[in-house]
Amino acid sequence: MGRIICVANQKGGVGKTTTAVNLVASLASLRRKVLLVDIDPQGNATMGVGVDKHNLENSSCEVLMGDIQLIDAIVSSPEAGFDVLPANSDLTAAEVGLMNATLKEKRLSLALAGAKERYEFIVIDCPPSLNMLTVNALVAADSVLIPLQCEYYALEGLSALLSTIKQIRLSRNEKLGIEGILRTMHDPRNNLANEVSAQLIHHFNDQVFRTIIPRNVRLAEAPSHGLPILLYDKSSRGSTSYMALAGEFLRRDEKREQTAM
Ligand code: ATP
Ligand code: MG
Repeated sequence: MGRIICVANQKGGVGKTTTAVNLVASLASLRRKVLLVDIDPQGNATMGVGVDKHNLENSSCEVLMGDIQLIDAIVSSPEAGFDVLPANSDLTAAEVGLMNATLKEKRLSLALAGAKERYEFIVIDCPPSLNMLTVNALVAADSVLIPLQCEYYALEGLSALLSTIKQIRLSRNEKLGIEGILRTMHDPRNNLANEVSAQLIHHFNDQVFRTIIPRNVRLAEAPSHGLPILLYDKSSRGSTSYMALAGEFLRRDEKREQTAM
């Protein structure tokens, strides 16, 4: 049975999409069967894997509205070896449409239920807010992966996100766990970043991934070519760090399964 991992942080530009795209691509290169789900109206993950968001026949919007089945909206990325549920700005309308819909918070969960048998991992890229789309992802997910840029206000934002996760756990999805906190765009020459990083380890210890994603210009360039970093520049530091993340992610996953048995 597959696991659903939601990549979330209400703060914008912290590396959610970069992490979702490159974790999925790295897992696919390790022969895991993975699905990338874009539920951000910006459609950055969609474009980042080379799918044109302006020319989508079907997308996560129609799936959330219950107009079509998940399978009819999935696009394969044969070169990269994984599947994508794409998104575009139509999703903004879906968010409004969901307001008065029945089971409005469970739409994504219901849509992905069958897919858990076909994929080992389903990774959801969330928009930068705690809106109905993100709530749908949190209700569908088994765990949350939190990308975090080690800056002054990062920890404050993190506690708001953790309290939302707690609320969702209490009211709508008791299985929701924390996959891990990932330090992104890290610059070791920045003293403040090192300080915040140390505080993070102090407070959250094992919940923090040991892999750190460095600031790397190749990672910033890759999306404009519609390619995950692994296909854009395999030898870059960005690529090796996301491969290391995939390795750590799988080791933690195995450990979790063993303790659950
Ligand atoms: P949003 O909240 O808007 O969805 P996000 O959290 O998904 O943003 P990204 O889009 O992944 O963040 O990253 C923001 C910008 O920073 C992008 O231009 C991306 O290419 C760049 N970027 C992300 N990670 C890195 C990195 N490690 N090194 C350099 N640039 C990066
Ligand atoms: Mg994004």
